Amino acid sequence: MKKRFTEVVEMIDFNELVNMKRDIDKGGMEINQVLTQKIKEELKKHNVYCSICNAKIDPYSTSNFTLIFGPEDLKKKATFCALDCMEYFLKNLKDLRRDWKNAKKEKNKTAGSASGMHEPDFDSDDID
Ligand SMILES: [Zn+2]
Repeated sequence: MKKRFTEVVEMIDFNELVNMKRDIDKGGMEINQVLTQKIKEELKKHNVYCSICNAKIDPYSTSNFTLIFGPEDLKKKATFCALDCMEYFLKNLKDLRRDWKNAKKEKNKTAGSASGMHEPDFDSDDID
Protein backbone atom coordinates (compact mmCIF):
# COMPACT_ATOMS: atom_id res chain seq x y z
CA MET A 1 0.00 0.00 0.00
CA LYS A 2 1.20 3.51 -0.80
CA LYS A 3 2.06 5.69 2.15
CA ARG A 4 1.96 9.41 2.76
CA PHE A 5 5.16 11.29 3.50
CA THR A 6 4.29 11.78 7.18
CA GLU A 7 3.73 8.01 7.52
CA VAL A 8 7.05 7.24 5.86
CA VAL A 9 8.88 9.58 8.24
CA GLU A 10 7.68 7.38 11.12
CA MET A 11 9.46 4.40 9.53
CA ILE A 12 12.78 6.03 8.70
CA ASP A 13 15.86 5.20 10.76
CA PHE A 14 16.84 8.03 13.16
CA ASN A 15 20.32 8.49 11.65
CA GLU A 16 18.75 8.68 8.19
CA LEU A 17 16.34 11.35 9.46
CA VAL A 18 19.25 13.39 10.80
CA ASN A 19 21.06 13.03 7.46
CA MET A 20 17.92 14.10 5.57
CA LYS A 21 17.48 17.14 7.79
CA ARG A 22 21.15 18.05 7.23
CA ASP A 23 20.67 17.70 3.48
CA ILE A 24 17.61 19.96 3.53
CA ASP A 25 19.48 22.55 5.59
CA LYS A 26 22.18 22.55 2.91
CA GLY A 27 19.64 23.10 0.13
CA GLY A 28 18.26 19.55 -0.21
CA MET A 29 20.33 18.55 -3.25
CA GLU A 30 20.43 14.82 -2.41
CA ILE A 31 16.74 14.55 -1.54
CA ASN A 32 15.85 16.54 -4.63
CA GLN A 33 17.85 14.11 -6.77
CA VAL A 34 16.16 11.06 -5.22
CA LEU A 35 12.67 12.55 -5.66
CA THR A 36 13.36 13.68 -9.24
CA GLN A 37 14.55 10.19 -10.16
CA LYS A 38 11.52 8.55 -8.54
CA ILE A 39 9.07 10.92 -10.25
CA LYS A 40 10.71 10.18 -13.61
CA GLU A 41 10.31 6.45 -12.98
CA GLU A 42 6.63 6.88 -12.11
CA LEU A 43 5.99 8.99 -15.21
CA LYS A 44 7.61 6.32 -17.38
CA LYS A 45 5.12 3.78 -16.02
CA HIS A 46 2.31 5.80 -17.59
CA ASN A 47 3.81 5.22 -21.01
CA VAL A 48 3.56 1.43 -20.96
CA TYR A 49 0.53 1.23 -23.24
CA CYS A 50 0.19 2.34 -26.84
CA SER A 51 -2.01 5.45 -27.20
CA ILE A 52 -3.82 3.90 -30.18
CA CYS A 53 -4.13 0.11 -29.79
CA ASN A 54 -3.44 -0.16 -26.03
CA ALA A 55 -0.79 -2.80 -26.63
CA LYS A 56 1.78 -3.09 -23.90
CA ILE A 57 4.90 -1.17 -24.89
CA ASP A 58 8.15 -3.10 -24.73
CA PRO A 59 10.55 -0.43 -23.41
CA TYR A 60 13.48 -2.09 -25.19
CA SER A 61 11.79 -2.43 -28.57
CA THR A 62 13.21 -0.28 -31.37
CA SER A 63 9.75 0.10 -32.94
CA ASN A 64 8.46 2.36 -30.16
CA PHE A 65 7.69 5.99 -30.89
CA THR A 66 6.85 8.85 -28.59
CA LEU A 67 5.42 12.13 -29.79
CA ILE A 68 5.80 15.26 -27.71
CA PHE A 69 3.53 18.11 -28.67
CA GLY A 70 1.66 21.12 -27.36
CA PRO A 71 2.70 24.46 -25.91
CA GLU A 72 5.88 24.80 -23.85
CA ASP A 73 4.03 25.03 -20.52
CA LEU A 74 1.67 22.13 -21.21
CA LYS A 75 3.58 19.54 -23.17
CA LYS A 76 1.69 16.38 -24.04
CA LYS A 77 3.15 12.99 -24.74
CA ALA A 78 1.77 10.05 -26.68
CA THR A 79 3.57 6.71 -27.00
CA PHE A 80 3.04 4.19 -29.80
CA CYS A 81 4.01 0.54 -30.16
CA ALA A 82 4.70 0.80 -33.89
CA LEU A 83 4.95 3.19 -36.81
CA ASP A 84 1.47 2.12 -37.98
CA CYS A 85 -0.08 3.32 -34.73
CA MET A 86 1.73 6.65 -34.88
CA GLU A 87 0.66 7.13 -38.49
CA TYR A 88 -2.93 6.35 -37.54
CA PHE A 89 -2.70 8.86 -34.71
CA LEU A 90 -1.26 11.60 -36.94
CA LYS A 91 -3.81 11.00 -39.66
CA ASN A 92 -6.65 11.08 -37.16
CA LEU A 93 -5.21 14.06 -35.35
CA LYS A 94 -5.46 15.97 -38.61
CA ASP A 95 -9.05 14.83 -39.13
CA LEU A 96 -9.93 15.41 -35.49
CA ARG A 97 -8.53 18.93 -35.49
CA ARG A 98 -10.54 19.71 -38.61
CA ASP A 99 -13.62 18.26 -36.92
CA TRP A 100 -13.03 20.36 -33.81
CA LYS A 101 -12.73 23.50 -35.91
CA ASN A 102 -15.89 22.64 -37.81
CA ALA A 103 -17.63 21.71 -34.58
CA LYS A 104 -16.73 25.06 -33.08
CA LYS A 105 -18.05 26.86 -36.15
CA GLU A 106 -21.21 24.74 -36.08
CA LYS A 107 -21.59 25.39 -32.39
CA ASN A 108 -21.44 29.13 -32.96
CA LYS A 109 -24.13 28.81 -35.61
CA THR A 110 -26.49 26.29 -34.09
CA ALA A 111 -25.51 26.36 -30.40
CA GLY A 112 -24.96 22.99 -28.78
CA SER A 113 -25.16 20.67 -31.79
CA ALA A 114 -21.59 19.49 -31.28
CA SER A 115 -21.78 18.66 -27.61
CA GLY A 116 -19.94 15.51 -26.69
CA MET A 117 -17.05 16.35 -28.93
CA HIS A 118 -13.91 16.92 -26.96
CA GLU A 119 -10.20 16.82 -27.48
CA PRO A 120 -8.54 13.49 -26.66
CA ASP A 121 -6.85 13.28 -23.33
CA PHE A 122 -3.12 12.59 -23.14
CA ASP A 123 -0.68 12.55 -20.30
CA SER A 124 0.59 16.03 -19.81
CA ASP A 125 3.91 15.37 -18.19
CA ASP A 126 6.73 17.70 -17.41
CA ILE A 127 9.31 16.99 -20.03
CA ASP A 128 12.88 18.05 -19.70
ZN1 LIG B 1 -0.15 0.34 -31.03
